[in-house]
Amino acid sequence: MLRQNDIDNKKPDNECQFVFPYFKDIPNKAMSGESSTILVTGGSGLVGQAIKYVIDEEQESGSGDGETWIFCGSKDADLRDRAQTEALFNKHKPTHVVHLAAMVGGLFHNMAHNLDFFRENMAINDNVLNASHKHNVRKVVSCLSTCIFPDKITYPIDETMIHNGPPHSSNYGYSYAKRMIDILNRGYSEQHGRTFTSVVPCNVFGPSDNFSLESSHVIPALIRRMDDAMANGAATFAVWGSGKPLRQFIYSRDLARLCVWALRRYHSVEPIILSVDEKDEVTISDVAEAIKKAHGFQGQIVYDTSKADGQYKKTASNSKLRSLYKDFEFTPFDEAMRTTVTWYKQNKGQART
Ligand code: NAP
Ligand code: GDP
Repeated sequence: MLRQNDIDNKKPDNECQFVFPYFKDIPNKAMSGESSTILVTGGSGLVGQAIKYVIDEEQESGSGDGETWIFCGSKDADLRDRAQTEALFNKHKPTHVVHLAAMVGGLFHNMAHNLDFFRENMAINDNVLNASHKHNVRKVVSCLSTCIFPDKITYPIDETMIHNGPPHSSNYGYSYAKRMIDILNRGYSEQHGRTFTSVVPCNVFGPSDNFSLESSHVIPALIRRMDDAMANGAATFAVWGSGKPLRQFIYSRDLARLCVWALRRYHSVEPIILSVDEKDEVTISDVAEAIKKAHGFQGQIVYDTSKADGQYKKTASNSKLRSLYKDFEFTPFDEAMRTTVTWYKQNKGQART
């Protein structure tokens, strides 16, 4: 396989497609007026439902002509199973795939299930990318995550660093499986000329998140647990860990807009980080205070330091995104938090809890 330096030094006319510099807008039949069928795996989840929201909005306003979007969940096909994956592709005959389906979870779920995270995600990713190749899918955008980068690294993290060292021990199963998507993308590009790429979001939150006590990420966990605490008249609320770790959070509907942009406009195999700016990184303690404000909780926040902090930080640079999509505006954190808390209060009967 080519190393990053080899890639950067090659000329764009090299046989291997993934050596194209990412800033070059390669003519792409993908979205150039031909009709397209876009299959979204993981379409029932947090990011999938946000993409559906954005596409519904576009279609109501009359744009997005020539695109048929199909959102699938695990009820439509268990993508760990090759035959079910094939049947899904045979049924819908997608020309494009946004591949979001994955075993996903917060710090504590990862710590307890590293093997499952590795095996399930390896199977899902191999099946989806291989079916995409066999069905001649013109473009695949898959999802990595900023939590898969090496634990010992210089900050800010950028797209070239994915394979430069072991991930944090808390989520090595998820991390190595996600890193292998990048290897598959490069292989399908190098051997078969495919445009299979990946986006790398920071922590995501928004409506339709997973609010379960067992497996959720920090924001849905705190929204749900604080709502329960308020219903029980609690005077204090325990945030797990020290509250000091730093995170960048992207609102799911902003990420959805960027994923749709990547599908239509970003044609390189090289991954691209989709994150808020470095200056918008917050502590877990800031997050708890924002949720307290959005919930109107009057009690006191305390910290349970017997629980793990996980990775201290994973500060990522969005300069590649900023250079390609200059005028993208992120929703302010407090506004996105208010919408998410309101959504949870109105939908907790149906939400994943
Ligand atoms: P999510 O809400 O947990 O949704 C996961 C989706 O994957 C659901 O639609 C689920 O279907 C589907 N799925 C899981 N196992 C499946 C299987 N065996 N077969 C078919 N479908 C399966 O996750 P998300 O937060 O939207 O994550 C979307 C993508 O973004 C993932 O690739 C994730 O790794 C990445 N990402 C997430 C975050 C974050 O903070 N959430 C951060 C960075 C990257 P059902 O619900 O129908 O079972
Ligand atoms: P990560 O960003 O991949 O580490 O995963 P999470 O979204 O689960 O965030 C983990 C961080 O939030 C750690 O610093 C935890 O100590 C902290 N945290 C505080 N309270 C909670 C909680 O109730 N659930 C989760 N998942 N994390 C919490």
